Amino acid sequence: MLGRKQLLIGGEWRDASDGRVMPVVNPATEEIIAEVAAATPADVDAAVAAARKAFTGPWSQLSARERGRLVWNLGEKLRENIDEISRLETLHNGKPITESRHIEIPAAADCLQYFAGWADKIHGDTLPVKGQALVYTLREPIGVVAAIVPWNFPLLLAVWKVAPALAMGNTVILKPASQTPLTALALGQLAIDAGFPPGVLNIITGSGGTVGQAIVEHPGIDKIAFTGDTSTGKGIMRTAAETLKHVTLELGGKSPNIVFPDADLDAAVRGATIGIFYGKGEVCAAGSRLLVDKSIKDEFLSKLADRTKKMVAGDPLNPKTRLGAVSSKAQLERVLSYVATARKEGASLLAGGDRTDIGTGKGYFMQPTVFADVTPAMTIAREEIFGPVLAAIDFADVDEAIARANDSIYGLAAGIWTRDVKKAHYVASKLQAGTVWVNTYNLYDTAAPFGGYKQSGFGREMSRYALDYYTQVKTVWVDLSN
Ligand code: NAP
Repeated sequence: MLGRKQLLIGGEWRDASDGRVMPVVNPATEEIIAEVAAATPADVDAAVAAARKAFTGPWSQLSARERGRLVWNLGEKLRENIDEISRLETLHNGKPITESRHIEIPAAADCLQYFAGWADKIHGDTLPVKGQALVYTLREPIGVVAAIVPWNFPLLLAVWKVAPALAMGNTVILKPASQTPLTALALGQLAIDAGFPPGVLNIITGSGGTVGQAIVEHPGIDKIAFTGDTSTGKGIMRTAAETLKHVTLELGGKSPNIVFPDADLDAAVRGATIGIFYGKGEVCAAGSRLLVDKSIKDEFLSKLADRTKKMVAGDPLNPKTRLGAVSSKAQLERVLSYVATARKEGASLLAGGDRTDIGTGKGYFMQPTVFADVTPAMTIAREEIFGPVLAAIDFADVDEAIARANDSIYGLAAGIWTRDVKKAHYVASKLQAGTVWVNTYNLYDTAAPFGGYKQSGFGREMSRYALDYYTQVKTVWVDLSN
């Protein structure tokens, strides 16, 4: 048991105002591993007051370079504690330790240090207006930013928001998902250790329905940066409209991964499996719709099924494990219900399809699953499953591949597998997706923007594009006539 964790408000750790707590479960063992405070709307009020006080007080008095140095220091603290934080990430989420330790927590540290570098490099312009006037712009922070994040990449998705928000001079209230609050709380302690003034980063744990809702309604919060389900995002946008908050939404996906017959098929098989089974398929950009040219379908799917059958779930803390535990009982049940629906609607099961066990009799493990003969109208071709389930759909030619790829309410990401350079660029230009990968899948870098088209949301995270969503522009006119 990792003990009882408190809220971080105004630089101090404290219990929820009514003393209530909620359990955190390790999905690989089904054991309660910690208790965290279940915050109340009164705690949200306190966090907003602390964030506002810091925003107008000590935080605003630091130079941009000093601010950047603190954000850099936070990245350093994360690197110094990388083993412990990676372990926590795996314990509360069930993801393989190799993903936490070698990909996601290092990426979070990179993200902090990338945005630290921007702190003193973002500035306004002087403008050539008509008449005799000096006109210039200032890039100013928005104010108090609330970051609300899901459970699939608990720390990384938090840092995608916290890093640019702090670097641009905002103060932050971070609400992690109830299932996975531990690494956000650890980040709070690292911010104290890195020397941030009290109230610059506040961490509030508690349920989305109460504390999340209180955050979105709060008139003292200026911006909501949200990652999560599309339906939650729509509700947040409606509620935030009441106080006209700035909103950025990173939402769901049903991303197509398109294999043309001229592709390196072995590489495409590897790419298809990484595209859907990395992170147990609990990845917003997962390549969950595999579009395969009819002429190679049988050969390709047979190779894919063989590779999938070799993947077995294992103890997430074992460095050799590549497929961890589904992150909760509810999520496992949801994934299994999609498998049942796919069978009922006539899809052919090529691999997996069931819950599995790693020899402990405990944990929410799922076999990696592939369905063939999926039609675009089937439920598993349309809805986000958020689990290790791949739906293979065929196509006859390039135009049909593009039409089928774009036949979704979502537009987060897409993959293209071909050796034909012209075709790759043509198809990339036609896909309605915020990110397109050619002959690869699931690559990210803090210098490259990420975000959605259509109902996958709006706004961009990472890269210099993200800076626009954490600043506002002030225009200053100075009369120079006579
Ligand atoms: P979710 O249910 O929408 O929850 C996300 C966060 O919102 C959690 O912190 C949740 O708190 C909170 N929340 C729930 N209801 C709320 C409300 N009414 N007001 C304010 N906050 C509220 O999503 P999820 O099931 O955790 O995450 C999976 C989804 O995230 C998938 O759809 C996935 O595609 C999407 N996702 C998108 C991206 C991207 O970058 N586009 C990245 C990763 C994931 P509780 O945990 O307490 O419920």
